[in-house]
Amino acid sequence: MQIPDALWRTTAPDPAPPVRLEGDVSLDVAIVGGGFTGLRAALMLAEAGTSVAVFEAGDVGFGASGRNGGQVNPMLPVAAPDDLHKAVGSKYFERMAETSLRSADDLFDLIRAYQIQCDARQKGWIRVDHCGAARDVARRNARLWNEHGADFEFLERADVERLTGAKGYATGTLSARGGAVQPMSLVRGLDRAARGAGAQVYSFALVKGMARQAGLWHLDVAGHKVTAATVIVATNGYSDALVQGLKHSVLPLFSIQMATEPLKESEIGPILPQGHTISDTRKLIMYARREPGGQMCFGGIGYRKPQGGVGGFNWILKDAPETFPSLKGVKWRYQWGGHVALTEDKVPHLHEPAPGLICGLGYNGRGVAMSHVMGRELARRALGTPAGDLPFPVTRIEPYRFRMPQVLGAGLAMAFLRMRDRMEWKSST
Ligand SMILES: Cc1cc2nc3c(=O)[nH]c(=O)nc-3n(C[C@H](O)[C@H](O)[C@H](O)COP(=O)(O)OP(=O)(O)OC[C@H]3O[C@@H](n4cnc5c(N)ncnc54)[C@H](O)[C@@H]3O)c2cc1C
Repeated sequence: MQIPDALWRTTAPDPAPPVRLEGDVSLDVAIVGGGFTGLRAALMLAEAGTSVAVFEAGDVGFGASGRNGGQVNPMLPVAAPDDLHKAVGSKYFERMAETSLRSADDLFDLIRAYQIQCDARQKGWIRVDHCGAARDVARRNARLWNEHGADFEFLERADVERLTGAKGYATGTLSARGGAVQPMSLVRGLDRAARGAGAQVYSFALVKGMARQAGLWHLDVAGHKVTAATVIVATNGYSDALVQGLKHSVLPLFSIQMATEPLKESEIGPILPQGHTISDTRKLIMYARREPGGQMCFGGIGYRKPQGGVGGFNWILKDAPETFPSLKGVKWRYQWGGHVALTEDKVPHLHEPAPGLICGLGYNGRGVAMSHVMGRELARRALGTPAGDLPFPVTRIEPYRFRMPQVLGAGLAMAFLRMRDRMEWKSST
């Protein structure tokens, strides 16, 4: 299994020693997937006195949780309140709006409560507009979300330049609740917290299959038998064939990251001087943050090339110095990527395809905060909270429509979106 060459693996504290499963185990709850969702659920279940174990195919944080951009964005990527309403109906609209708008605060509270050392900073998230049309849409939607409790402020050119140092964006929106974490440090810290509360966490423990017999789930984990009353599946963009249809219910977008070596003050000084995070309104989004160690870290959307390898890094290499001129000529030391799980309606999905089997996934690139909410809610459900009392509706697993052509045609689609984004961007600067 290939481990990505990520900045986060270099700067995170050492992991707790990995534990391998030896022998058969009997549990109240078995959790598949050792990322934010699975570990957050494990922490809560262990604290409630449940016997719980996490089974992770790689090492802890192997999936998106150890690879992401670490931007803590306090809302779903649903454009306007009406879109959320359409997706989840009136019964769940208020609950999901409130839950998602609180998600960043909840995460920072959790980090403080467990004293997780993950460079957490809630210094605000700035979303900059790449063209006039995008600005009009962003402002209209931000005003509508503000009526539901969001805290967006509008930034004009002088503020955008002062707070970001970015060129080419005339306006933006600031949410003070947003911020950043070092994601690998966070997932390793959660692992320690869950183990401290009594959860078992097994690495290199691929769950190959499971079946329900006589009211219990029987899992085949790395050649051992695991029996559990309840199974939580927290595999998000890394979902495999374990639960019928789950993998095909989401579109696996390949998200990419690049980071520089530690930079000189003359190079990094003008960029995001107050510690905000930044993203833009392009379809192929650019997002960035500066690190306490002096590195700049950029994220974008890439694609797997049919002949092998990953496309998209060249776009970051071109855009970064255009946006932040002091980055011209700097050395880029890291590049990596991973799977984001998109849902058709852009909201996270919670499924219960069989008694005692609960799945939560589909954060649409906003999982750093939302996966913790989902992990908490999956744990509540496993502890007996009625399905109708959760913030997420329990839905059927449905296939993502036209998934295969979108997976196969990703390179072509990205090239087209890239061209359109650049035309829009350049026409307004
Ligand atoms: C490059 C990148 C950048 C991103 N940037 C951001 C960002 O800046 N902000 C934001 O909010 N979100 C971001 N995201 C999304 C965010 O990282 C995810 O939504 C979140 O980490 C999902 O957490 P998870 O625990 O549900 O899934 P994951 O962390 O993906 O964990 C799932 C785990 O399940 C394991 N697994 C799968 N099948 C099995 C099996 N059969 N047996 C055992 N284990 C199994 C996998 O090995 C994997 O480790 C980004 C994602 C990527 C990839």
